[in-house]
Amino acid sequence: VTFVRHDGALSEVPLAGRIDPAARARLRVCEWAGLEVIEARLPGPFRVMFTTRQGGVSAGPYASLNLSYRVDDDPKLVADNRAWVAAAVDSRGRDIASQQPLRLISPTQVHGVRVVGAAEYAAAGKGDGCDSIEDPCDGLVIHPLLDQGLAALLLFADCVPLVLVGEVDMAVVHGGWRGILDGIVRQAGRAMTGPPGLAIIGPSLGPCCFTVGREVAGAFADRFGTHVVVEEERVDLWAAASVALEELGVRRGQIVNPRLCTACNRDLFYSYRAEGPTTGRHGCVAWTAAA
Ligand SMILES: [Zn+2]
Repeated sequence: VTFVRHDGALSEVPLAGRIDPAARARLRVCEWAGLEVIEARLPGPFRVMFTTRQGGVSAGPYASLNLSYRVDDDPKLVADNRAWVAAAVDSRGRDIASQQPLRLISPTQVHGVRVVGAAEYAAAGKGDGCDSIEDPCDGLVIHPLLDQGLAALLLFADCVPLVLVGEVDMAVVHGGWRGILDGIVRQAGRAMTGPPGLAIIGPSLGPCCFTVGREVAGAFADRFGTHVVVEEERVDLWAAASVALEELGVRRGQIVNPRLCTACNRDLFYSYRAEGPTTGRHGCVAWTAAA
């Protein structure tokens, strides 16, 4: 495997060294099937990993592990990249008793607040690739019994990946600023069987880089508190999501944040803000190991 270095490389520090030390007990960098991924160490049967943009076959602005069919990348290359991610999960992340091939379910994300069960979404014939726009959804719940053989694949290029882990099931959410403001974290909590006790915040636009207008900043301050607005013009989406997670009962010490800003680390992640609309999407993959 050739790992592509991007000319926008801002740091020579390897990925593991860029993860906030406070998050390293839960998040570690692994190589699965030749792909460097961030694995979350979660209790019970729950498994989550984050991909980077490195190690795939896409070229140009999509280099190289673009997982989205909804950007202007070659769909054959996207299919190869997704197959590689599925192989990575299969190689290391699944129980050997599992017989079924892994099926990646990737919803059509629209910055909304709808969260549904992965099997329910898949049963509607959705999420298998050239995603249909008729059934948008920004979060999937994964249940160890209901969703065997399925993995949720949500796609990101700045928006906040949020993983909520409970005792019975877990949810993965695409948290754009609109979705966070409109209550997607609360919706994820409602869609789960029991309350979450642990949450992971994935690589996303940090408070260093999310500059907004006065109205958006005001809306965030009104909803989440003035501490989520930095220097009057930037919003801390991580802090806002954390407020929403605490409202669901997740204790502050159980919110894991690697503090990886996609715009500051665009050699490793895609960033819509930093690179414009012509860019790819990295992923958050969630599944359960067979009992
Ligand atoms: Zn930044």
